[in-house]
Amino acid sequence: MDKIPSFQKNHDVLQPGFHFSGVQKGVDTFDLRFKKPNAGDFISPKALHSVEHMLATALRNGKCKDSVLYFGPMGCRTGFYLLTVGLSCEEVFSALKTALVAALAMDEVPGSARVECGNYLEHDLADAKRECTAYLTLLASLSEEEISAEEKKRREAHAHG
Ligand SMILES: [Zn+2]
Repeated sequence: MDKIPSFQKNHDVLQPGFHFSGVQKGVDTFDLRFKKPNAGDFISPKALHSVEHMLATALRNGKCKDSVLYFGPMGCRTGFYLLTVGLSCEEVFSALKTALVAALAMDEVPGSARVECGNYLEHDLADAKRECTAYLTLLASLSEEEISAEEKKRREAHAHG
């Protein structure tokens, strides 16, 4: 079988951050890396699940909601994937920060009732908020140049796709 693109990335050099990952059929994939891969520190399964519910809800209620196609966790528990269409990296970055702030204001995990979720007991709001705070701090440390470098990569990928 072919090695899929996300396995071709060298995870030993991948740093936590906000990465444009690629484009397929006009859909952009972003690698929202919360943790350094293979460094012994992973998002707990409960927090991973709760962050999924919280950020998916916040992103789909934000101003870019119609351009957000998917948000979901990485199985390795070091981050999340965000799939968007027609948004620049700057727009995605801004929507993401707004969604993180909205998630931090939540007093419960959305959709965590038994009828709404496939594993409703596996949630941890406080730990999810700790992960969101840490990621928001990380995003705040990124420069405008770093985001425009991602946007440059995105435009080049679209030009060649
Ligand atoms: Zn769930």
